[in-house]
Amino acid sequence: MVKKELLPEITIGLTGHVDHGKTTITHALTGKWTMIHSEELKRGITIKLGYADASIRKCKCKDIPYTVDEICPKCSAKSEVVRKISFVDAPGHETLMAVMLSGAAIMDGAILVISATEEVPQPQTLEHLTALKILGIENIIVVQNKVDLLTKEKAKENYLQIKNFVKETLGRDVPIIPVSGQKKVNIDALVTAIQELIPTPERDLKKDPIFMVARSFDVNRPGTDIDKLTGGVLGGAVAQGLFKIGQEMQIKPGLKLEKKGSVVWKPIIAKITGIFSGNASIKEKGPGGSVALATSLDPAITKSDSFVGSLVGIEDHLPRVVEEFDLEPHLFEYVVGAKEKLKLSPFKQYEPLMLNVGTATTVGIVQSSGKKMRLKLRRPVCADKGTKVAIARQIQNRWHLIGYGVVL
Ligand code: GDP
Ligand code: ZN
Repeated sequence: MVKKELLPEITIGLTGHVDHGKTTITHALTGKWTMIHSEELKRGITIKLGYADASIRKCKCKDIPYTVDEICPKCSAKSEVVRKISFVDAPGHETLMAVMLSGAAIMDGAILVISATEEVPQPQTLEHLTALKILGIENIIVVQNKVDLLTKEKAKENYLQIKNFVKETLGRDVPIIPVSGQKKVNIDALVTAIQELIPTPERDLKKDPIFMVARSFDVNRPGTDIDKLTGGVLGGAVAQGLFKIGQEMQIKPGLKLEKKGSVVWKPIIAKITGIFSGNASIKEKGPGGSVALATSLDPAITKSDSFVGSLVGIEDHLPRVVEEFDLEPHLFEYVVGAKEKLKLSPFKQYEPLMLNVGTATTVGIVQSSGKKMRLKLRRPVCADKGTKVAIARQIQNRWHLIGYGVVL
């Protein structure tokens, strides 16, 4: 059994405009490259969420603040791990807003990466910061990246631009840390900001356990003998409560079944056969960090992210599954993330909207709008009353965040 304090305690998201350095900074913090899909490597962008854990360390010499270096840069002694953190690297490409939003559901805090070499804000810089704001992620640290490419004066100018932009968007100041992710300059200052400003929240382990599925896969190599197959694996985060090996859990909305041309979603029961956090195999896990649950499910049904958006929990103790709902809309006056200033026009009947509910992404067809909106969902989601739903709309051929709604 691993000591509890050595498991990741929180999840921090890397957000921001494409190419501003999210993946590079994730690498500087964790030593891992999160671009693992060949398509991503080819295109040089993150398409799916990337995952990597880091250890925050402190040295006995106390000459350094917090660091991720195993060997103290000051006295060359071995530093000690004080906390582990999971990072999720969200894609910053304009077409991948839904992926960013589903990642935001499992973030305890976020780093907004802004390149010092471009005008502030770039479209997805604003769109991501707005998303963090409406989803209630309060612990935000801004990173001013690529300062190695600028003179001191230019970097200062850009820093002030960032400061004004953040204040305007959030209505408050947040720390801004200048770094070079590529040259690994000032990463210790970022690590120190994370350690001091994004604490591990109190977790209530007595609540009903709920796990949010952010990915699902088949970990078996092709051609593995049937009797040696490992069951389906669900990746994501514990939202509340405690998960234990051996529990029978329900997964909702669950499994997609196609029957005679129509699609139905069926809740499914599975046994938890393993729990993985960091590099450790553990017996139980509460909220905090990226977690993988090994299950008794047939791996053929969990492959290719088929369970993304589902919740795992005690049977009949999970939020209800809905195929349509009423929302109380909170919409922006202007379209966020559009290049020019664009006023939001009224909804058309049967217009499709992209909705994010937790880690689930679905399309909602507008039945009626106004102070109360009725939406029919293409794919059901788990949502009790009061759940926040991020709303995006197709404008100029892509989805733009236009506000959020509260389920009535
Ligand atoms: P992402 O799309 O936000 O994840 O951005 P990447 O991490 O993929 O970085 C985009 C490009 O900027 C890559 O070519 C990086 O090598 C480069 N880059 C990232 N950080 C820095 C930095 O601090 N300095 C310089 N000069 N280049 C950087
Ligand atoms: Zn030291």
